[in-house]
Amino acid sequence: MHFETIAIRVGQEPDPATGSVIVPIYATSTFRRQSIEQEGGYEYSRVANPTRAAAEQCLAALEGGKYCLLFASGMAAESAVIGLLKPGEHVVCIRDVYGGTMSLLRLAEGRGIRYTYVDATRLEEVAGAIRPETRLLWLESPTNPLTYVVDLQALAELGHAHGLLVVVDNTFATPYLQNPLALGADIVVHSATKYLGGHSDLIGGALVYNRDDLHDPLWDQQAVGGGILSPFESWLLLRGLKTLAVRMRAHEANAMAVARYLQEHPKVEQVLYPGLPDHPHHALARRQMRGFGGMLAVYLKGGREQAVRFCESTRLFLLASSLGGVESLIGYPPVMSHASLTPEERAERGITENLVRLSVGLEHIDDLLADLEQALAKV
Ligand SMILES: *Cc1c(COP(=O)(O)O)cnc(C)c1O
Repeated sequence: MHFETIAIRVGQEPDPATGSVIVPIYATSTFRRQSIEQEGGYEYSRVANPTRAAAEQCLAALEGGKYCLLFASGMAAESAVIGLLKPGEHVVCIRDVYGGTMSLLRLAEGRGIRYTYVDATRLEEVAGAIRPETRLLWLESPTNPLTYVVDLQALAELGHAHGLLVVVDNTFATPYLQNPLALGADIVVHSATKYLGGHSDLIGGALVYNRDDLHDPLWDQQAVGGGILSPFESWLLLRGLKTLAVRMRAHEANAMAVARYLQEHPKVEQVLYPGLPDHPHHALARRQMRGFGGMLAVYLKGGREQAVRFCESTRLFLLASSLGGVESLIGYPPVMSHASLTPEERAERGITENLVRLSVGLEHIDDLLADLEQALAKV
């Protein structure tokens, strides 16, 4: 089956009780047993719920994975992975990582987890950071907010040569554009809040993996840890997944047009979008991904004053955290997603005062370009 068909049909057989074409929201905490000895079937909704199970089956198939677990947020899914680590163990993490992941590692430090940030575009730097107690290699591609692309296959091989668990946050790419498991990753992480849900109306997260030996420990993190996705949000996620393919194609068409427009604008210093031929990792993105997504980073000419004026002048591009919804958003990483870093840490990561991040939505491209034009006129 092709991606579009999987998204609409897998895990979503008409309801056996009524023929309902859409998977119902099973709003129940518990399920009646036929007998005390009953084997199989549903028992209690924290452990398993049919609406959540449908969404898990569908997303597993879309990522080419055997297992999927859905969580109450992307961060809850990440916590489940970090929860596998024992005190004293060490993580090698891509430097240009989601801000929440940095906060989570800082939190994990309190129970003895150590970590090192690396420039994952340089394999020798990654290899040099691996210690005897390193257990996990945490990757993200394209990265947030700079849209850097790292060689997932080469990094997974390197990680496995050292016996590491290789984790890839695939939120920006989505399974429509990239399947990290096929490139060698052990666990794929998603914030379902973004493109998978796609309509800015849910918070959710997912883990997808193939390895049987990871299933018991990760399932414990979900069912015992308890940070599950609710039946209602599982249903919203199923609804979002059905249109993921068409949305991603439209996000990309709009993002490419916005990137080309901004690249030519006299008030713009540089645009980072993996689909532009002059993006530093364009060739790798072409090889590793099936498209370039809807996120781009823009360095304006000038500094903080110009960036802030731009962010506060757009009308259609709403000034808000998050990404991947049908509506376009604009963000200012130094104060929003990366506020917890020191100015030195930000500079090290290329998050300078003139950097703006765009999540290009599905409004008409002419309206989006007109909005950017009027905002840049005020910069
Ligand atoms: C938003 C996001 C997360 C965290 O997901 P939540 O659903 O907000 O908890 C993790 N990684 C990336 C890349 C994200 O964009």
